[in-house]
Amino acid sequence: MALPGGDMLVRFWGVRGSTPTPQAENLRYGGNTSCVEVRVGDGVYVFDCGTGFRSLGQHLTQEFAGQAVSAHVFVSHFHWDHIQGIPFFRPLFEDPAHRFTFHASARNHSLKNVMEQQMSAPFFPVGVKEMKAQREFFGIESGRVRIDDQVTIEAKWLNHPQGCLGFRIESPEGVLVYATDNEPGDPEFDKNVRALAAGADVLIYDAQYLPDQYEAKKRGWGHSHWREGVNVAMESGAKELVLFHHDPEHDDACIDSVVKEARNFYPAVRAAAEGMEIRVGGNTLAPSTRVEIPL
Ligand SMILES: [Zn+2]
Ligand SMILES: [Zn+2]
Repeated sequence: MALPGGDMLVRFWGVRGSTPTPQAENLRYGGNTSCVEVRVGDGVYVFDCGTGFRSLGQHLTQEFAGQAVSAHVFVSHFHWDHIQGIPFFRPLFEDPAHRFTFHASARNHSLKNVMEQQMSAPFFPVGVKEMKAQREFFGIESGRVRIDDQVTIEAKWLNHPQGCLGFRIESPEGVLVYATDNEPGDPEFDKNVRALAAGADVLIYDAQYLPDQYEAKKRGWGHSHWREGVNVAMESGAKELVLFHHDPEHDDACIDSVVKEARNFYPAVRAAAEGMEIRVGGNTLAPSTRVEIPL
């Protein structure tokens, strides 16, 4: 299903870090873990498979209504909050005509094995054999790959325990960067994230902690904070900054205050929220279709 208007459409299905937080005080920004959908032309590109991946699956089933779904799915790393939605993604089980191409680093573990393990006894009652859809797995490392003659994806390593890939998605419509689970302070990885973000239209960046919280207690945990997000955006020339991977302990009021404070340093910043859509290319940040963000 081609997207009208020649834009790149970005939808946020999961924005929380570490673990889902389905409690009332977190629901405006959302409690599902990492999943971002990108549409360019008739291409469907997905970044991470946290619990938000389940909601995306329901949406795709409804949208394609009996027609074959084809998507490229990029997995940044295999921590729970980036894979937990896989066993609950309906299109994988529905139709042999559906086709999913998975891309992840195979440096330490292959995603194919990870999926088999997460769906094996005693963790889950249904195995991967029950998945009817066609599945292909590609190992990706640092580098660039052209997909469907529609987008180019560039991957670089970020600073995170057991590793994590950040992604830059380029198309004629615009440039989006998905860089989460990254701790600042290592010169090599600091350079990587700035290279990925160079001149991007939109930078989605790990802002799990508050700057004070990071300094006091969270060094070495593999995450960043909004002040570093602002630094990366300003130093790389990214036009819009979207704070992502919200800490489970940060409720809506806390994230509101983070955005207010961050805007004192960089006006084009907002926090990712479930249901939020961004059209890259029209240079507009569309308001959320499901939640309102009063800022
Ligand atoms: Zn994470
Ligand atoms: Zn992680």
